[in-house]
Amino acid sequence: MAEPKTRERAYRLRCYPSARQRRVLGRLFGASRFVWNWALARRTSAYHGDQTRLNWISLSREFTALRQAPETHWLTELPREPFNQVLRDQERAFQNFFARRARYPRYRRRGRAERVRVRFTLDQRREQVERDATPRWAFVNLPGVGRVKLRRTEGLQGRLRSVTLSRDGAGRYFASICADQVSQAVWPEPQCEVVGIDLGLRDLAVVSDGAHVHTLRAPKALQLKLTRLRRYQRRQSRQLAAQMRAQGLDPDKPCPKGVRLGMSHRRARTRARIARLHGRIGDLRRDALHRVSTALVGQARILVLEDLNVKALARGGHQRGFRRAMGDVALGDLRRQIRYKADWAGRQVIEIDRYYPSSKRCFECGTVNAALGGAKRWACPACGVCHDRDENAAKNIRAEGLRQLAAASSLATGKGPGSHARGVACAAERTRRVTVECAQRRPTQNREIA
Ligand SMILES: [Zn+2]
Repeated sequence: MAEPKTRERAYRLRCYPSARQRRVLGRLFGASRFVWNWALARRTSAYHGDQTRLNWISLSREFTALRQAPETHWLTELPREPFNQVLRDQERAFQNFFARRARYPRYRRRGRAERVRVRFTLDQRREQVERDATPRWAFVNLPGVGRVKLRRTEGLQGRLRSVTLSRDGAGRYFASICADQVSQAVWPEPQCEVVGIDLGLRDLAVVSDGAHVHTLRAPKALQLKLTRLRRYQRRQSRQLAAQMRAQGLDPDKPCPKGVRLGMSHRRARTRARIARLHGRIGDLRRDALHRVSTALVGQARILVLEDLNVKALARGGHQRGFRRAMGDVALGDLRRQIRYKADWAGRQVIEIDRYYPSSKRCFECGTVNAALGGAKRWACPACGVCHDRDENAAKNIRAEGLRQLAAASSLATGKGPGSHARGVACAAERTRRVTVECAQRRPTQNREIA
């Protein structure tokens, strides 16, 4: 127990490479794509040839030879380290493919922003990162690139293992630094025991703590930016159609393969605007999700969530608006953040069955209103109580979590309590006490236990 608990984490910092460094990085991004595609072609042809599976060590040996070859000698002008990382990444992609967790790795095309990145492992024998050179700036010294300036937003703790430099569509550079042995932050004591959380599209989270219901929303700025994005996208498609007509093509049909469309100044400007806006939307969304997940985990000892299959929802046959809203709030990310932050803070997360009718069930009388569509407000057909859809769901989720806790504790007393079950039972006990205290203050709003 004397060993203090540590964890892994990643830091994401904006970085400001110089013009020379940007040129080197540009070549590295392109060369990484080249190496990925070369290695993928080698693996594919070796497998189709004599069924051999090349691993990254043999590919690394071949790559050394490739660097010596006269036509690919330009690779020696760049640092070797990021290419080893590319080969390792591909090894992992193939492991995932063979384990049926992923599709067959694909070739990388030029101009795909999400893949514009290079990773360097950091040497543990020397400090490559100047963590706090100044209050505002940190620096990382990378082979072949030089000393890259990083905007310091928080202290970098622990052992720094690797740094990934990336460029987004708006031309901004970021460094993502992986660290381990980061000491655990101390979380404040939670204000309540159990909260039920309804994660949704309209509001990020509607939270019931038994006495109150409150809502954690995504910022208005995000919504405004999305409206503006749609406007720019309409403009872009108008400009694209005009360009196609100017080249004698039918704008209602997709552009035929091999035809290069001219790029007007206005079209280029719209494209740049859209890229910048996407960057800003990403920032706002990331910030909102972190704020909400931190607030939720800080609030309660036990968090009850619905086990929604977010992937299936995003893929499923819903309307486009629904899918976009889904992507917007990135509920999957939010749930992932809640889980790992709960783990850091020593909180318990209970996930209730996704088929539990949290929205359709009337919290007051328990009637399941099967005819409930997408209405925001509804009146219970049995008892007539008026419900806010999400508030009602949050209360039901909390009640179901409490029921499961109570079931676990009675199971524990039946079998003789194990330490885990005892912990759960204690938590349920505390919950009951807290809820009763709340009930004395606000008698009308607490029926979960009764
Ligand atoms: Zn009712």
